[in-house]
Amino acid sequence: MSINIAIDGPSGAGKSSLAKLIAKQMSYVYVDTGALYRAVGYQVLNSGKDPSDETQVDQILENIDVTFRSEPDGQRVFVNDEDVSGSIRTMKVAMAASDVSAFPSVRAFLLESQRKIARDTDVVMDGRDIGTVVLPDAQVKIFLTAAPRTRALRRMLELQSRGEACSNSLDDILEQMTQRDANDSSRNTAPLRQADDAVLLDNTDLSEEQTLAAAMKIIKDKLDMET
Ligand code: C5P
Repeated sequence: MSINIAIDGPSGAGKSSLAKLIAKQMSYVYVDTGALYRAVGYQVLNSGKDPSDETQVDQILENIDVTFRSEPDGQRVFVNDEDVSGSIRTMKVAMAASDVSAFPSVRAFLLESQRKIARDTDVVMDGRDIGTVVLPDAQVKIFLTAAPRTRALRRMLELQSRGEACSNSLDDILEQMTQRDANDSSRNTAPLRQADDAVLLDNTDLSEEQTLAAAMKIIKDKLDMET
């Protein structure tokens, strides 16, 4: 049976950085499920459709194929064979992803590919509903969070490192992030929430290395591994 590690939490908590480090340390495959929702949001925007209109989004679903491939330095995502891995990393696409992700049709569309890889492979999967819906039987579940301002600051540094954030102040980012988290937590289908059996990890005052160390301790405890 494959081992599954689920990491959920609000945006900017550092889920993907942590998940990548764990995957490297454990030699597991990292799966970034947010990228799949971003790919749908990207395609909706690209087709001139409205991400908050369910009928228009459903039309897009009829004509797209979203696939992903894990590579040593991360994951690549494709929409109809176009590699969109870079183009989906904007705040506009993030917001569109949050809009489309509220629709049950979109969630159903992406569910099986997430479950399939976790069935066949040892994975570290990050998202919003991994521990609650996608992999309810995951052996390890971590809910990663941090104070909103800390998360916004991290996101700003990340955007800046991509040369993107010049026009976005910290307050803009905090506002968008707060709105996105509110969207994600209040939707009816698979809302963002901590699974009952997930371990809460608040990394507001932790460095990346300290967060990794805390997560590895949780994982080793759960998997009964020697430290
Ligand atoms: O994690 P990331 O910021 O890339 O996710 C983008 C958006 O995709 C989230 O704000 C959320 O609306 C959606 N998402 C989701 N369920 C997941 C992963 C992401 O609804 N498992």
